[in-house]
Amino acid sequence: MLRAILAFTILSLSPTAFAGEAEFRLEPIQGNVFRFTAGHYHSIVMPTPEGCFVADPISPEAARWLKNEIQQRFDTPVRYLVYSHNHFDHTLGGEIFDEPSITCISQELAREDLVRTRTETRIPDLTFKDQLTLHLGDSQVHLRYHGSNNGRGSISMKFMPADVLFVVDWIVLGRLPYMDLKGYDIHGMIDSTREVLDIPFTTFVGGHGRTGDRQDVARYLGYLEALYGRVVEARRAGQTLAEMQKSIRLVEYKELDRYQEWLPLNIEGVSRTLDDRSYLDMQMER
Ligand SMILES: [Zn+2]
Repeated sequence: MLRAILAFTILSLSPTAFAGEAEFRLEPIQGNVFRFTAGHYHSIVMPTPEGCFVADPISPEAARWLKNEIQQRFDTPVRYLVYSHNHFDHTLGGEIFDEPSITCISQELAREDLVRTRTETRIPDLTFKDQLTLHLGDSQVHLRYHGSNNGRGSISMKFMPADVLFVVDWIVLGRLPYMDLKGYDIHGMIDSTREVLDIPFTTFVGGHGRTGDRQDVARYLGYLEALYGRVVEARRAGQTLAEMQKSIRLVEYKELDRYQEWLPLNIEGVSRTLDDRSYLDMQMER
Protein backbone atom coordinates (compact mmCIF):
# COMPACT_ATOMS: atom_id res chain seq x y z
CA MET A 1 0.00 0.00 0.00
CA LEU A 2 2.79 2.38 0.96
CA ARG A 3 4.55 1.50 -2.28
CA ALA A 4 1.37 2.19 -4.25
CA ILE A 5 0.97 5.59 -2.61
CA LEU A 6 4.63 6.42 -3.25
CA ALA A 7 4.35 5.43 -6.88
CA PHE A 8 1.24 7.54 -7.27
CA THR A 9 2.95 10.51 -5.63
CA ILE A 10 6.01 10.25 -7.87
CA LEU A 11 3.84 10.00 -10.97
CA SER A 12 1.69 12.95 -10.01
CA LEU A 13 4.65 15.10 -8.96
CA SER A 14 6.77 14.75 -12.06
CA PRO A 15 4.52 14.40 -15.10
CA THR A 16 7.06 16.10 -17.39
CA ALA A 17 9.77 13.52 -16.76
CA PHE A 18 7.40 10.76 -17.84
CA ALA A 19 5.90 12.72 -20.72
CA GLY A 20 9.44 13.35 -22.04
CA GLU A 21 10.27 9.68 -22.12
CA ALA A 22 6.98 8.84 -23.79
CA GLU A 23 8.19 10.83 -26.84
CA PHE A 24 10.93 8.29 -27.50
CA ARG A 25 10.22 5.13 -29.50
CA LEU A 26 12.24 2.41 -31.17
CA GLU A 27 10.20 0.37 -33.65
CA PRO A 28 11.06 -2.32 -36.19
CA ILE A 29 10.93 -1.26 -39.86
CA GLN A 30 12.30 -4.11 -41.97
CA GLY A 31 14.87 -6.86 -41.34
CA ASN A 32 17.23 -5.70 -38.59
CA VAL A 33 16.53 -1.99 -39.18
CA PHE A 34 14.68 -0.02 -36.49
CA ARG A 35 13.38 3.53 -36.57
CA PHE A 36 14.18 5.69 -33.56
CA THR A 37 11.71 8.53 -32.92
CA ALA A 38 12.18 11.56 -30.67
CA GLY A 39 9.26 13.98 -31.09
CA HIS A 40 9.20 15.05 -34.76
CA TYR A 41 12.62 13.56 -35.41
CA HIS A 42 13.57 10.12 -36.69
CA SER A 43 16.84 8.24 -36.80
CA ILE A 44 17.95 4.66 -37.51
CA VAL A 45 19.36 1.83 -35.42
CA MET A 46 20.66 -1.45 -36.88
CA PRO A 47 21.64 -4.06 -34.28
CA THR A 48 23.68 -7.12 -35.30
CA PRO A 49 25.40 -9.83 -33.22
CA GLU A 50 28.70 -8.06 -34.07
CA GLY A 51 27.57 -4.67 -32.80
CA CYS A 52 25.05 -1.93 -33.39
CA PHE A 53 24.90 0.92 -35.92
CA VAL A 54 23.32 4.21 -34.76
CA ALA A 55 22.51 7.23 -36.97
CA ASP A 56 21.67 10.72 -35.62
CA PRO A 57 21.53 10.88 -31.79
CA ILE A 58 19.09 13.91 -32.00
CA SER A 59 19.59 15.26 -28.44
CA PRO A 60 21.40 14.29 -25.20
CA GLU A 61 18.09 13.13 -23.63
CA ALA A 62 17.13 11.13 -26.72
CA ALA A 63 20.63 9.63 -26.97
CA ARG A 64 20.63 8.59 -23.30
CA TRP A 65 17.26 6.90 -23.70
CA LEU A 66 18.40 5.21 -26.92
CA LYS A 67 21.67 3.92 -25.46
CA ASN A 68 19.81 2.29 -22.59
CA GLU A 69 17.13 0.88 -24.92
CA ILE A 70 19.76 -0.69 -27.22
CA GLN A 71 21.43 -2.34 -24.24
CA GLN A 72 18.13 -3.64 -22.81
CA ARG A 73 16.66 -4.90 -26.06
CA PHE A 74 19.61 -6.09 -28.12
CA ASP A 75 22.47 -6.54 -25.65
CA THR A 76 25.05 -5.70 -28.32
CA PRO A 77 27.62 -2.86 -28.12
CA VAL A 78 27.28 0.26 -30.28
CA ARG A 79 30.08 0.25 -32.87
CA TYR A 80 29.22 3.12 -35.22
CA LEU A 81 27.61 6.53 -34.77
CA VAL A 82 26.95 8.27 -38.11
CA TYR A 83 25.60 11.81 -38.58
CA SER A 84 23.27 12.40 -41.55
CA HIS A 85 24.45 16.02 -41.92
CA ASN A 86 25.76 18.98 -39.92
CA HIS A 87 22.60 20.48 -38.39
CA PHE A 88 22.68 20.59 -34.60
CA ASP A 89 19.04 19.55 -34.17
CA HIS A 90 19.97 16.07 -35.49
CA THR A 91 23.57 15.75 -34.24
CA LEU A 92 23.38 16.83 -30.59
CA GLY A 93 23.84 14.04 -28.05
CA GLY A 94 26.84 12.46 -29.79
CA GLU A 95 28.84 12.73 -26.55
CA ILE A 96 26.57 10.06 -25.03
CA PHE A 97 28.24 7.64 -27.47
CA ASP A 98 31.76 9.00 -26.92
CA GLU A 99 33.68 5.79 -26.25
CA PRO A 100 36.88 4.50 -27.91
CA SER A 101 35.02 1.39 -29.11
CA ILE A 102 32.49 3.53 -31.03
CA THR A 103 33.64 5.14 -34.31
CA CYS A 104 31.91 8.43 -35.08
CA ILE A 105 31.55 9.19 -38.82
CA SER A 106 30.23 11.93 -41.09
CA GLN A 107 30.79 13.30 -44.59
CA GLU A 108 33.81 15.65 -44.50
CA LEU A 109 31.78 18.88 -44.98
CA ALA A 110 29.50 18.01 -42.05
CA ARG A 111 32.50 17.53 -39.76
CA GLU A 112 34.05 20.78 -40.97
CA ASP A 113 30.86 22.69 -40.12
CA LEU A 114 30.42 21.03 -36.69
CA VAL A 115 33.96 22.17 -35.84
CA ARG A 116 33.54 25.68 -37.23
CA THR A 117 30.28 26.31 -35.41
CA ARG A 118 31.55 24.69 -32.19
CA THR A 119 28.52 22.41 -32.05
CA GLU A 120 28.46 20.73 -28.66
CA THR A 121 28.43 17.12 -29.70
CA ARG A 122 30.99 14.42 -30.43
CA ILE A 123 33.16 15.45 -33.40
CA PRO A 124 33.52 12.66 -36.00
CA ASP A 125 36.84 10.83 -35.99
CA LEU A 126 36.37 9.42 -39.48
CA THR A 127 35.11 11.27 -42.58
CA PHE A 128 34.61 10.44 -46.25
CA LYS A 129 34.03 12.42 -49.44
CA ASP A 130 31.84 10.42 -51.84
CA GLN A 131 30.97 7.09 -50.26
CA LEU A 132 31.83 4.65 -47.53
CA THR A 133 30.54 1.14 -46.74
CA LEU A 134 30.46 -0.14 -43.15
CA HIS A 135 30.27 -3.86 -42.37
CA LEU A 136 28.76 -5.36 -39.24
CA GLY A 137 28.68 -9.15 -39.54
CA ASP A 138 26.42 -9.98 -42.51
CA SER A 139 24.93 -6.47 -42.62
CA GLN A 140 26.22 -3.40 -44.42
CA VAL A 141 25.51 0.31 -44.43
CA HIS A 142 26.32 2.25 -47.61
CA LEU A 143 26.88 5.94 -46.93
CA ARG A 144 26.69 8.25 -49.96
CA TYR A 145 27.12 11.96 -50.57
CA HIS A 146 24.95 13.41 -53.35
CA GLY A 147 26.19 17.01 -53.37
CA SER A 148 24.53 20.10 -51.93
CA ASN A 149 20.83 19.83 -50.94
CA ASN A 150 20.29 20.95 -47.32
CA GLY A 151 22.82 21.85 -44.66
CA ARG A 152 26.33 20.58 -45.34
CA GLY A 153 27.60 17.07 -45.92
CA SER A 154 24.13 15.54 -46.03
CA ILE A 155 24.18 11.87 -47.04
CA SER A 156 21.92 8.92 -47.77
CA MET A 157 22.30 5.70 -45.79
CA LYS A 158 21.36 2.38 -47.36
CA PHE A 159 20.96 -0.64 -45.07
CA MET A 160 21.52 -4.16 -46.38
CA PRO A 161 20.20 -6.83 -46.43
CA ALA A 162 17.20 -5.00 -44.92
CA ASP A 163 16.92 -2.89 -48.11
CA VAL A 164 16.05 0.34 -46.31
CA LEU A 165 17.13 3.84 -47.36
CA PHE A 166 17.39 6.73 -44.86
CA VAL A 167 17.59 10.43 -45.80
CA VAL A 168 17.15 13.43 -43.53
CA ASP A 169 15.50 16.78 -44.35
CA TRP A 170 15.84 16.94 -48.17
CA ILE A 171 13.33 14.16 -48.75
CA VAL A 172 10.20 14.31 -46.57
CA LEU A 173 7.28 12.04 -47.47
CA GLY A 174 3.66 13.07 -47.07
CA ARG A 175 4.44 16.75 -46.51
CA LEU A 176 5.59 19.79 -48.50
CA PRO A 177 9.26 20.82 -48.22
CA TYR A 178 9.84 23.12 -45.24
CA MET A 179 8.29 26.59 -45.46
CA ASP A 180 10.27 29.04 -47.69
CA LEU A 181 13.14 26.55 -48.21
CA LYS A 182 15.58 28.53 -46.07
CA GLY A 183 18.90 26.69 -46.21
CA TYR A 184 17.66 24.37 -48.98
CA ASP A 185 19.19 24.15 -52.42
CA ILE A 186 16.25 23.35 -54.72
CA HIS A 187 18.49 22.33 -57.65
CA GLY A 188 20.51 20.07 -55.36
CA MET A 189 17.35 18.61 -53.81
CA ILE A 190 16.09 17.65 -57.28
CA ASP A 191 19.44 16.22 -58.42
CA SER A 192 20.06 14.33 -55.14
CA THR A 193 16.56 12.86 -55.13
CA ARG A 194 17.03 11.69 -58.75
CA GLU A 195 20.29 10.01 -57.69
CA VAL A 196 18.59 8.35 -54.73
CA LEU A 197 16.02 6.88 -57.11
CA ASP A 198 18.89 5.19 -59.00
CA ILE A 199 19.74 3.26 -55.81
CA PRO A 200 17.69 0.07 -55.37
CA PHE A 201 15.66 0.07 -52.12
CA THR A 202 12.20 -1.05 -51.05
CA THR A 203 11.57 1.02 -47.91
CA PHE A 204 12.31 4.68 -47.30
CA VAL A 205 12.67 6.22 -43.84
CA GLY A 206 12.96 10.00 -43.48
CA GLY A 207 14.40 12.10 -40.66
CA HIS A 208 10.93 13.68 -40.58
CA GLY A 209 7.56 12.61 -41.91
CA ARG A 210 6.28 9.18 -42.68
CA THR A 211 7.94 6.03 -43.94
CA GLY A 212 7.25 4.96 -47.54
CA ASP A 213 8.53 3.22 -50.67
CA ARG A 214 10.18 4.12 -53.99
CA GLN A 215 6.93 5.38 -55.45
CA ASP A 216 6.49 7.82 -52.59
CA VAL A 217 10.01 9.18 -53.18
CA ALA A 218 9.29 9.48 -56.92
CA ARG A 219 6.12 11.39 -56.09
CA TYR A 220 8.07 13.74 -53.84
CA LEU A 221 10.51 14.34 -56.72
CA GLY A 222 7.52 14.99 -58.98
CA TYR A 223 6.36 17.72 -56.61
CA LEU A 224 9.83 19.38 -56.55
CA GLU A 225 10.08 19.31 -60.35
CA ALA A 226 6.54 20.64 -60.82
CA LEU A 227 7.09 23.43 -58.28
CA TYR A 228 10.38 24.47 -59.86
CA GLY A 229 9.03 24.28 -63.41
CA ARG A 230 5.94 26.34 -62.63
CA VAL A 231 7.90 29.08 -60.85
CA VAL A 232 10.43 29.38 -63.72
CA GLU A 233 7.56 29.53 -66.23
CA ALA A 234 5.71 32.21 -64.24
CA ARG A 235 8.82 34.31 -63.67
CA ARG A 236 9.70 34.18 -67.37
CA ALA A 237 6.14 35.37 -68.09
CA GLY A 238 6.87 38.38 -65.87
CA GLN A 239 4.73 37.45 -62.86
CA THR A 240 5.47 39.02 -59.47
CA LEU A 241 5.76 36.91 -56.33
CA ALA A 242 2.23 37.83 -55.25
CA GLU A 243 0.87 36.91 -58.70
CA MET A 244 2.66 33.55 -58.66
CA GLN A 245 1.41 32.80 -55.17
CA LYS A 246 -2.11 33.38 -56.49
CA SER A 247 -1.81 31.63 -59.84
CA ILE A 248 0.35 28.57 -59.11
CA ARG A 249 -1.69 25.61 -57.88
CA LEU A 250 -0.29 22.10 -57.81
CA VAL A 251 -3.62 20.43 -57.07
CA GLU A 252 -2.34 16.96 -57.89
CA TYR A 253 -0.32 17.27 -54.64
CA LYS A 254 -3.03 18.82 -52.48
CA GLU A 255 -3.25 15.79 -50.17
CA LEU A 256 0.28 16.53 -48.89
CA ASP A 257 0.45 17.99 -45.39
CA ARG A 258 0.82 21.79 -45.25
CA TYR A 259 -0.20 22.16 -48.90
CA GLN A 260 -2.32 25.27 -48.24
CA GLU A 261 0.07 26.95 -45.81
CA TRP A 262 3.43 26.20 -47.33
CA LEU A 263 2.85 26.23 -51.12
CA PRO A 264 3.07 30.07 -51.23
CA LEU A 265 6.25 29.85 -49.12
CA ASN A 266 7.74 27.10 -51.33
CA ILE A 267 7.06 29.35 -54.36
CA GLU A 268 8.82 32.24 -52.60
CA GLY A 269 11.82 30.00 -51.84
CA VAL A 270 12.23 28.83 -55.45
CA SER A 271 11.80 32.38 -56.77
CA ARG A 272 14.45 33.66 -54.34
CA THR A 273 16.85 30.91 -55.49
CA LEU A 274 16.31 31.99 -59.10
CA ASP A 275 17.32 35.53 -58.14
CA ASP A 276 20.29 34.50 -55.98
CA ARG A 277 21.67 31.88 -58.30
CA SER A 278 20.66 32.84 -61.81
CA TYR A 279 20.15 36.61 -61.32
CA LEU A 280 16.79 35.98 -62.95
CA ASP A 281 15.48 39.33 -61.67
CA MET A 282 18.35 41.10 -63.46
CA GLN A 283 17.87 39.04 -66.62
CA MET A 284 14.21 40.01 -66.72
CA GLU A 285 15.02 43.73 -66.34
CA ARG A 286 17.25 43.84 -69.40
ZN1 LIG B 1 15.54 18.26 -39.67
